Amino acid sequence: MSELIAASAVFAYSRRALDLVWTTSKRLSVALIVLTVIAGAMPAAIAFIGALIVDAVLHAAQLHRQGGALSLGLVLSLVALEAIAVAIVALTQRGLSLAQSLLRAQLGQRVNEMILDKALTLDLTQFEDSEFYDKLARARREASSRPLSLVMRTFGLLQNGISLVTFGGLLIKFSPWAVVLLGLAGLPSFLAEAKFSGEAFRLFRWRAPESRMQMYLESVLAREDHAKEVKLFQLGPRLLSRYRDIFTRLYAEDRSLSIRRDAWGLSLGLLGTATLYGGYGWIAIRCVAGAITLGQMTMYLMLFRQGQTAVSAALSAVGGMYEDNLYLSNLFDYLEQPVVVRTGSALKGPKPGDGIRFEAVEFTYPGSTSPALQGIDLVVRPGESLALVGQNGSGKTTLIKLLTRLYTPTSGRILLDGLDLGEWDEATLRRRIGVIFQDFARYQMLVGENIGAGDEQAFDDEARWRSAAAQGLAAEFVEQLPVGYRTQLGKWFKDGRELSGGQWQKIALARAFMRKDADILVLDEPTAAIDAGAEAEIFEHFRELTKTRIAIVISHRFSTVRMADQILVLEEGRIVERGGHESLMANNGRYANLFLLQARGYR
Ligand code: ADP
Repeated sequence: MSELIAASAVFAYSRRALDLVWTTSKRLSVALIVLTVIAGAMPAAIAFIGALIVDAVLHAAQLHRQGGALSLGLVLSLVALEAIAVAIVALTQRGLSLAQSLLRAQLGQRVNEMILDKALTLDLTQFEDSEFYDKLARARREASSRPLSLVMRTFGLLQNGISLVTFGGLLIKFSPWAVVLLGLAGLPSFLAEAKFSGEAFRLFRWRAPESRMQMYLESVLAREDHAKEVKLFQLGPRLLSRYRDIFTRLYAEDRSLSIRRDAWGLSLGLLGTATLYGGYGWIAIRCVAGAITLGQMTMYLMLFRQGQTAVSAALSAVGGMYEDNLYLSNLFDYLEQPVVVRTGSALKGPKPGDGIRFEAVEFTYPGSTSPALQGIDLVVRPGESLALVGQNGSGKTTLIKLLTRLYTPTSGRILLDGLDLGEWDEATLRRRIGVIFQDFARYQMLVGENIGAGDEQAFDDEARWRSAAAQGLAAEFVEQLPVGYRTQLGKWFKDGRELSGGQWQKIALARAFMRKDADILVLDEPTAAIDAGAEAEIFEHFRELTKTRIAIVISHRFSTVRMADQILVLEEGRIVERGGHESLMANNGRYANLFLLQARGYR
């Protein structure tokens, strides 16, 4: 029973893989089915014709010996028939491999698109969930090979199954017991293979975290973005030995499984071979006794021998299927991950011009015990600017993530133009808000495209690139690059230029200035690597640009912060002070303290 359950794990995803193939290309699927059936039935046909040939030869020779004319017609036409049958086999094999390679290309692309399509619907929280991320990474890695491999193995199994059934059909004339014998010869090894495959399947699933750690270590050890630190801190040997330890642990389990698997495979395989050769002897005896013709004997022997080949081919198909299933279980887990449905459809709010309101907003990160933000009440009207101040980890970025609906508040609500963010149409909301985070993306694309990314509709608009770059103070250095705005950035591609941290930040700022139509603009500390004077200048630009809009800035520089109409001081997720620069200074509280501390540093 447990063997059968293990076996079902091996086949669990075959149906879905077939479904995937069927919906990818019905024509190729039909071709595959037809060819598989032909390929499965041909060996029996060839054995049958072979028997007819032997008997026809014997018959003709006997007639000839008895003085009759030499009649070769039947023999030669049977030989020709067998030649045709063999040609058909060659043809179906070519056809199968053609269908397979066409399907591989289509299926790989289709699965990759499914994976990426799904990725677009995912929540930020899901990307931050390690197990989920693991699924995504693994789904992507083998997307182009695994589904087809499982399908081909399933078809291989089908083909060998058909062969075995047709062999049985011919053997039953000899004796029903011969059919039983053929079945018995294959069954034990089949069950053993299924059992161990199932075990391996569970083993591999269960050790995903270790594999993930190995993969992560590989990436730290072998990727350019880590190379600098790994070298300077001499972390290499330690990380490598961690990598090795994981292997050693996993290898011990693998070895034990492999040894048991092969030992059982060998003994059950030998049992099968003994059974088959028992049948062999039996057939020979029956022939000697004259119960069957020589031709029939040739056929039955061939059936037995090919039956054994079919059984072992089926076994190796089963053996490979567990890995494919492992992959597919991961793929389908990923594809079926529930997505939070964004129900909103509103294109505008009931109170245009009301701006942003936070009402008693609280937020706790999934898996975290204490809230990252609580009791947040806040109003920002169009034309106002807001600065967020506070130590690292005080919740500034979290507030921005909530405002941009990357996360949904755990309690309380956030309104834009009098309407809850959740009720806004996703695209409309995204168009209205422009954000540059401190860990902004560095696209390995052209400089201009890096800027143009800020306004998808003007992605290629060179004139807009230029004006945005000027506002972000990037124009000057961009124009000195070899091909200006058409310079490739990053190291991944030929002639890619790497920029300094400050230059990248200017590009990111320019990207923010691309969002001409957004009426809320947010800069989350993207200016840390830019000198204070330039930062203040940029913020001036920013405020000018945002005269009728809302400007929000997170900065540790008070030269910038003091320009904001409203300043919030956050501490451990709560607002501890708020107001304009003058009033906060007059208050002589946290803000005034921090301000004086920094001012002293500059003196
Ligand atoms: P700030 O921007 O002020 O430096 P954040 O808003 O990034 O602070 O972080 C606020 C708190 O939330 C911190 O305690 C941090 O550890 C936690 N936090 C931030 N991001 C995540 C996340 N993705 N998952 C869980 N906790 C997070």
